[in-house]
Amino acid sequence: MTNSPNPPRVVVTTSWDDGHRLDPKLADLLDRYGIVGTFYISPRNIEFAPGDHLVPQGVRELAQRHEIGGHTLSHQRLPLISAAEAEAEIRDGKDEVEQILGAAVSTFCYPRGEYDASHVRMVKDAGFGLARTVRRHSLGVGDPFEAVTTVNAYAHRVDVPQVLRMADLNPFTAGRLFLNWDDFAIAWFDKCVREGGVYHLWGHSWEVEARGDWERLERVLQYISHRPGVEYVANAALIPSEN
Ligand SMILES: [Zn+2]
Repeated sequence: MTNSPNPPRVVVTTSWDDGHRLDPKLADLLDRYGIVGTFYISPRNIEFAPGDHLVPQGVRELAQRHEIGGHTLSHQRLPLISAAEAEAEIRDGKDEVEQILGAAVSTFCYPRGEYDASHVRMVKDAGFGLARTVRRHSLGVGDPFEAVTTVNAYAHRVDVPQVLRMADLNPFTAGRLFLNWDDFAIAWFDKCVREGGVYHLWGHSWEVEARGDWERLERVLQYISHRPGVEYVANAALIPSEN
């Protein structure tokens, strides 16, 4: 690669959802490669067994090197509960995490990526500046209250069309990218370095564990780390400035 006088701006951010006891293991991996993460914490997540929640002291330790964001109080599916309940889930989740931290949080993530326009308004009214969705395959943020991402640390079957496009319809390359989400994540990073943009990798520590994907994740983090000129930031850095 030649040195261009004006290389495209490349921003790397990562986010990790739910507030699981394995989040510190994931944070250690990020630290090893100098990559910043935003951990979206649902402090009373109903989908976890009680012993699987990240305890408040663990949240505070994560916050020393990474960002903490809101993810509702108990990880209910927002479209399936009443407006009043949804508003309380969003606000009370923010309040509880802020009490744990003794500091304000500014970013939010919709549980399961499920929301409608009323929830966007609730998130704005609660004082958040950015809300992440689960939409993927973008090198831009889009609407900050429906922020899109690049890749999920997980093998999605629905990625077939994207994989084929990334592989220039080469079936051998497509097969490799389809079978290995780490290769897919790396191909997206290469595209981001070439074209510029925001590379947003996200996932769940419990899912990495359940699928035995720690080595794949480390391979991706190592590949995208310590690149000259690349900015490594938390999700809050994607909040548009007010002027
Ligand atoms: Zn979640």
